[in-house]
Amino acid sequence: MVPYRQGRTAAEDAFKLSSNENPYPPLPAVLEAIGASAINRYPEGSAARLRDLLGERYGVSAERLQVGAGSVSVLAQLITAAAASGDEVVFSWRSFEAYPLLVGTAGATPVMVPNTADHRHDLPAMLAAITDRTRLVIVCSPNNPTSTTVTNDEFVAFMAQVPPTVLVVLDEAYIEFVTDPDAVRGAALINDYPNLVVLRTFSKAYGLAGLRVGYAVGAEYVMDAARAVAIPLSVTEPAQRAAIASLEHEGELLERVAQLNRVRERIWEGIVAQGWDAPEPQGNFVWFPTGELTAQAAEVFAKHGIVARALIDGLRVSVGEAESVEKLLSASAEVVQMRRTAAATATLD
Ligand SMILES: *Cc1c(COP(=O)(O)O)cnc(C)c1O
Repeated sequence: MVPYRQGRTAAEDAFKLSSNENPYPPLPAVLEAIGASAINRYPEGSAARLRDLLGERYGVSAERLQVGAGSVSVLAQLITAAAASGDEVVFSWRSFEAYPLLVGTAGATPVMVPNTADHRHDLPAMLAAITDRTRLVIVCSPNNPTSTTVTNDEFVAFMAQVPPTVLVVLDEAYIEFVTDPDAVRGAALINDYPNLVVLRTFSKAYGLAGLRVGYAVGAEYVMDAARAVAIPLSVTEPAQRAAIASLEHEGELLERVAQLNRVRERIWEGIVAQGWDAPEPQGNFVWFPTGELTAQAAEVFAKHGIVARALIDGLRVSVGEAESVEKLLSASAEVVQMRRTAAATATLD
């Protein structure tokens, strides 16, 4: 198995836009909350206060929530609980790099269904990929790394046909950044399907990536199964306190999200004007389908002071500081030139 590779670190003067992090520093209230933690003591293992608060927000009992050290941890619990050797887990590809790793370490088989030509989930094809071995389907909206969403209509039509014995995990790590009114929103659907689990995180919109805290909402017996396989006491006290303080100051944090979305809008307008055939971004990141020129394109971005995430067939660039936009757009313009030259050379060949 190939180990998980983290986004590259940046030189002093470069913008690190490789890990979809929030560029804003923590809120003073969050720092204060963390400072009050008694770190010589173990945390309260079930994150009871945080689950109570979240339960009020979702209108569900605290038993229907599971908090983990990042939503990736909760996803690992769900996969481990639901799938083992001989079982299959269906997800779209390309999607989040962690999915094949988590499925593989559970001993199960990843079934990767290609995205549509416009970089979206192909839900009918995912449905067709479900067999009697399928235990779980992961739907990522907005999808990392392509920044596209699944629509509510598509998702509801999909859920109507998924067997009720197959768990559907809707990974909404970037839901706070979604502006498309047609996009699916899991919070509105959690009471409609007992086999639906919605995953959310404090890492992205709430800027707590370094503290590791995320959660799932789903049926109580499914959350119980996740709890049964969880590593005890892995959600730290500072993380729980920071998450609670973030919910209490959500307005300020969502204002930052709105600011980041304005930066995203500037990037989007810029790259459309440059002629990019990129999907309209709905997460805090933009996907450049650079194909075979991806490694070279990453070099161009690096030269312009932008550390991007190079995947096999495209570059993912996070929406960061407003000051990064100019550099980003000059890099993407240079890549357009490079692609034209490469295409012209290919034609001559
Ligand atoms: C960043 C991300 C997560 C969240 O990870 P945490 O473990 O909560 O930090 C989950 N899913 C996707 C698709 C992501 O991109």
